[in-house]
Amino acid sequence: MYRCELCNRVSRPGERATKVVMERRPTEYPSRSKAQRARTGRRAKSHDDPGGAGYEIAKEAIVCATCAEEQLAKEAAQDAAQDADPLGI
Ligand SMILES: [Zn+2]
Repeated sequence: MYRCELCNRVSRPGERATKVVMERRPTEYPSRSKAQRARTGRRAKSHDDPGGAGYEIAKEAIVCATCAEEQLAKEAAQDAAQDADPLGI
């Protein structure tokens, strides 16, 4: 059992919890030289990890099924709004 972090309702026994992402932040990963190792036969070769950029989870919540659905719908609406207006103007 758990308490939903959005509506504060205590779950029924056996009710599934869902983890939802509340906040994301952009991040960059630096390149790492010789980070990847691969063996081909007797030789070990190492490759550089190029690094890159992406998003990481900044805030996560354990919620009930109802709140998870609401949160998903909210996120889909936000994504649609961003697609229509990518610069947020
Ligand atoms: Zn809830």
